[in-house]
Amino acid sequence: MQEDNASIPYVNLSAQWDEDKEELLPILEKVMTEAHHVGGAHIEKFEQHVAQLCDVKHAIALNSGTDALVLGMVALGIKAGDEVITPPNSFVASTAAIVQLGAKPVFVDVLPDQNIDPDLVEQMITEKTKAIMPVHLTGRIANMDPILAIASKYDLKIVEDAAQSIGSKYRGQLSGSLGHVGCFSAHPLKNLNACGDAGFLTTDDDQVAESVRLMRNHGLADRNTVTSFGCVSRMDNLQAAILDFRLQKLDQIIQKRRKNAQVYTDLIDSRFVFVPEEKSYEFNTYHTFVIQTNCRNELQKFLNQHQVGSAIHYPIPIHLQPASASLGYKSGDFPEAERQAGKILSLPIHQYLDTVSIERISKLINQFLSTHEI
Ligand SMILES: *Cc1c(COP(=O)(O)O)cnc(C)c1O
Repeated sequence: MQEDNASIPYVNLSAQWDEDKEELLPILEKVMTEAHHVGGAHIEKFEQHVAQLCDVKHAIALNSGTDALVLGMVALGIKAGDEVITPPNSFVASTAAIVQLGAKPVFVDVLPDQNIDPDLVEQMITEKTKAIMPVHLTGRIANMDPILAIASKYDLKIVEDAAQSIGSKYRGQLSGSLGHVGCFSAHPLKNLNACGDAGFLTTDDDQVAESVRLMRNHGLADRNTVTSFGCVSRMDNLQAAILDFRLQKLDQIIQKRRKNAQVYTDLIDSRFVFVPEEKSYEFNTYHTFVIQTNCRNELQKFLNQHQVGSAIHYPIPIHLQPASASLGYKSGDFPEAERQAGKILSLPIHQYLDTVSIERISKLINQFLSTHEI
């Protein structure tokens, strides 16, 4: 029996290490013994396995999800002065990647499910628009059919920010295989996680793949020939070995997260909170499990007092960040994203969470909300 006041952390990376240790230690030892730290066989193996998993021709291992976005856009020809349409309620990296190129982020509001509203995209297209960057937030894929139709009508590139959605599906199609490039993060807090920074890019386009491969390694076509100047964004061989090992467990991880989500959905009183349902054509992987309620701050405090961790992804929409001042947006520009920023709360959903804990959290939430103004 679990004690009533046992602490339930929002994430539990130590539990992951405890589970992986026995199998992972010999792998780490082998990589260290081989002493081939940059480049190396694990990277190619990991790339092949990811390409299979995402149902794409190429996967390219990189140093971060942010670099996947930047290099993906460079390879697609997006450059200074171009405009890229994207939602304002993402992790800051999606917008920062656009800004890093000297391109301009053009924000579009989101739907109640937190993903970009396709109906608002077309009116924002100008002569400078080169791409749409949907963010598959929470592990749910954005409504891609209308977005793909708009992209095709205006000849725009689709850059999927798939950082939170490895293994997610939309009408049976895998995240990262729907656009021109899929950009994934393997940050320690993502569903498929390294022990440090890591990311990767997926594409079916041979030229884009070749270009990203070159760029990640100084633009070196061979040891001594630089065909175009690049940068350094290689994945460590060690991280690739860890990721390749964890990739084999991804299916289990996703199943457990989906089960956890189902238990929450069954138990949390939906009169008090908004819990977005999974539509029939969706397969969500629940990077986060987000509820929305008017007394979010009080609820978070209450959960804290009962040793239950939670998080807010993200409390300040990007257009209202100090860094966005020069973009000229103001409060009220994206009412749905702004409304959600005050209401969203991510509950623990990780694969080491047991049903008893979810029952306890759900009970606490129902108890709290039944006595509060909603
Ligand atoms: C994590 C994340 C990123 C950035 O990934 P890094 O590997 O940390 O660079 C980009 N977009 C979204 C939506 C993310 O969640």
